[in-house]
Amino acid sequence: MDNPADFEAILRGPDAYRLARSALDMMVRYKVWPTPLNYELWLHYSANPKSALGQEIDRLIAAGDPFTEATCESLAATFLPKAKLNEQIRDAGDQLSRELDTVSRAIQAAHASSKAYGVTLADASTELAHNSDPSTLRPLVANLSDATRLVEEENKALQKQLQESTKEVHQLRDHLAQVRRDATTDALTNLGNRKAFDTELRHAHEVAERSGEVLTLAVVDIDHFKRFNDTWGHQTGDQVLRYVASVLGRVGAPPRFAARYGGEEFALIFPGETAANIHSMLSDVLKEIASRSLRRRSTNEELGAITVSASVAELKNKETAHTLLERADAALYDSKRAGRNRVTNAEGSPGEAAA
Ligand code: GH3
Ligand code: MG
Ligand code: MG
Repeated sequence: MDNPADFEAILRGPDAYRLARSALDMMVRYKVWPTPLNYELWLHYSANPKSALGQEIDRLIAAGDPFTEATCESLAATFLPKAKLNEQIRDAGDQLSRELDTVSRAIQAAHASSKAYGVTLADASTELAHNSDPSTLRPLVANLSDATRLVEEENKALQKQLQESTKEVHQLRDHLAQVRRDATTDALTNLGNRKAFDTELRHAHEVAERSGEVLTLAVVDIDHFKRFNDTWGHQTGDQVLRYVASVLGRVGAPPRFAARYGGEEFALIFPGETAANIHSMLSDVLKEIASRSLRRRSTNEELGAITVSASVAELKNKETAHTLLERADAALYDSKRAGRNRVTNAEGSPGEAAA
């Protein structure tokens, strides 16, 4: 039921009230605040527990994670972007269409008054050609100057209208750009979200295939993060996610792309970079993370250091993006099995511990 039209149909179908009750019951059970966004999430979950959203909620429930505002926002950004995006685009479209109506009305009015001005001028010139009596010149000139003033006023009004509309259209364009950014951004870390990652990987893969340029994918996962959350709480865990995201966001140079791929897992795309090069950069980053003792922001309490595990995989000739990602995932698993806090190249054996 990934189609929004199907979901709309369910909301107006025979199961609607049962689903609404079940969504609310679960929200009470899992201490989810009844905000409109959360209700939408849980309604989707009730309607289709087997969907990607359903599976992620099941995973969070099984892990005993609280549904904090950040978690719910991140779920909505990952799994409900279309509905929200459609709504915002529709609003922006309505506004744009109203703006265009105003401009078009103003242009019509200006057109009508300049046409009337043309008629007045033509009348005056006929009058002048057929009538050389100077006494009739005065009303003629007065008439012409009235008509000129009218056109000038119309022009000024039109200019003002156009300025205002241009401003509105620029604001609208910025707003749409923001909406587009939100739909592809992970709310917690400000990196790309999974949807953006999928799009970027597909694109980078196409470019690499066409150009024959090298392409490297890296996957990073925080070590024993469940234990960290259990010890220090989910909110502090969220701070760690932001910290790791900020460090990873600095690895390599554009056009590299960094995303939060899942809960505490990150994926990075490096067009034009070899796996060996990224391996070395990530090893340095792992050392930096492992050597830094973290502090809780609110209390300045010392939390100790965390470690992360990583993998790199370079695209092979004729390899699909899917297989590349699978190889990177497998290499990450090798890093974990070999003791964590290390980078594994999908082509080789697990690396040494970073620190
Ligand atoms: P491993 O070293 O094998 O990766 O162990 P792990 O505990 O990191 O891995 P596991 O997959 O067992 O647990 C992942 C944990 O990540 C579960 C959950 O508590 C935490 N997590 C996932 N998403 C979020 C989030 O948005 N915020 C916080 N604070 N924690 C999260
Ligand atoms: Mg982990
Ligand atoms: Mg993980």
